[in-house]
Amino acid sequence: MTLLRNAIVFAANATDVRICMHCPRHCAYKTAGHKMWPVVNGEIVAFGKTFHNEIAGPFHKNIAESFFTRRTEFLSIFKDVTEIGVLQERLRNFVAEYYLVPFLKNNGSNLKIANIEALNRAIEKWIEHLSGYLWRIPSLWQAPRELVDSVLKNIFHKPEQTLSALHVFSDGVMLKLSGRYDCALFNPDTKEPMLIEFKGYGSDDNAVSGLAQMLVYAWLFEKNAGFVPSLTVFYLVSNEAPEVIPSHMVADMLKNNFPSALDLMRRVLERRRPIPRSDYTWLCSKCYFNARCDSDWG
Ligand code: SF4
Repeated sequence: MTLLRNAIVFAANATDVRICMHCPRHCAYKTAGHKMWPVVNGEIVAFGKTFHNEIAGPFHKNIAESFFTRRTEFLSIFKDVTEIGVLQERLRNFVAEYYLVPFLKNNGSNLKIANIEALNRAIEKWIEHLSGYLWRIPSLWQAPRELVDSVLKNIFHKPEQTLSALHVFSDGVMLKLSGRYDCALFNPDTKEPMLIEFKGYGSDDNAVSGLAQMLVYAWLFEKNAGFVPSLTVFYLVSNEAPEVIPSHMVADMLKNNFPSALDLMRRVLERRRPIPRSDYTWLCSKCYFNARCDSDWG
């Protein structure tokens, strides 16, 4: 907490909000400087980071930047595509050749077979979704060949952009929120941006907190760019299709659900007791703080 010209300003990032929705007391420990106890399996988290840092992140970054040594090969993917299956196969081959294979050459000996298989499945799922997204942008397929590159640069935006903005509560107290989303796409036909998040765990017990984190990104994006984006969450180890939330639903959630998440975040940062327990009993049964959280925050 800081004091600016007598205004109280708290600060939190998107991860804090996610943890707060998972367990407010856990967030209180985290923001008080306690060492985090991992909420989800560390190996699965590492897998999610690998997928994002080695495959999807570099791919989105390369396509968004002007100078990309494989741009000619990438543009050839879009030549004479007559059906979505062709696009999907070409994208999959491109990702395999320039991202997956080099990664496996350097790191494959340290990976378990199950992790390599999971990585392949995650790529397959991501490419299927990305192909469908691109296929539904008519201007990409109607553009003259010499303009395809500029349409694609308009669709793919730099990943991992850090945003921040101030939320002002009705009593004047402020909360500075910040966050860095994974990837962003823009549909030039519908003028709709889409933020994408890759999660290395399943959706079951983390959906509410994962959504809260995404709403922070959506709120920050709106404050900085003036648009409410749609949201897509890939639960990489799940067999289910990615969760896609259209922008009008995101706008509803920002209006109706997000304020209560920020109120809870503020309560945690103010250390206003009792801080609520987690709704997830499975989490409490494994939690490092189980023996003391009632006396600390109850
Ligand atoms: S025991 Fe439960 S309520 Fe307490 S900090 Fe851990 S997860 Fe949260």
